Amino acid sequence: MSKPLHDAFVDELRDTYDAEKQLVKALPKLAKAASADDLREAFEAHLEETRGQVTRLEQVFASLDEKVRGKHCDGIAGIIEEGSSIMQEDFDASTMDACLIAAGQRAEHYEIAAYGSLVAWAKALGHDAAAELLEETLEEEKAADEKLSALAEGGINDQAANGQIDEAQLNGDDAKPRARKKSSTTRRAPARGKRR
Ligand code: ZN
Ligand code: FE
Ligand code: FE
Repeated sequence: MSKPLHDAFVDELRDTYDAEKQLVKALPKLAKAASADDLREAFEAHLEETRGQVTRLEQVFASLDEKVRGKHCDGIAGIIEEGSSIMQEDFDASTMDACLIAAGQRAEHYEIAAYGSLVAWAKALGHDAAAELLEETLEEEKAADEKLSALAEGGINDQAANGQIDEAQLNGDDAKPRARKKSSTTRRAPARGKRR
């Protein structure tokens, strides 16, 4: 017997639940690899949000009287895998930041696609409570994506394109030494925008 949309909806919820849990493990690695303070903070903030999204999906399962269950998400696993390979490359700090943003945005776009369908299906199926919860997460994913674009376009891409900048400019006075930082140039980078 062929299965209805409700079954596809629950399957997709399980896939997305697993994706969020994979991201809870991956986001700290992105944060750790980031050199710019504002980028690291953006990843850390989205990590907190992502933990909330896991909880929200548990509420969605409850609203449907479904058991909370994940099902391995190959899509996000592939995106995370590509991100890990990039982190092993020997890019300069700003270029690595630009790459981390690109990796993060791949994940956000994947999630936006997933939640977009979930919201639409929840509405079509008349699962209003689920639709509302899923919509909240969809908005958070869009905001996270826009935040990454703003960081890229607000200085990180230009810094990467213009070469190395010095430690003080990147991290301010309270800077901790960064592992990847290796600058031999005295060339000044363009002024950076507001960082916090
Ligand atoms: Zn249903
Ligand atoms: Fe998420
Ligand atoms: Fe996300």
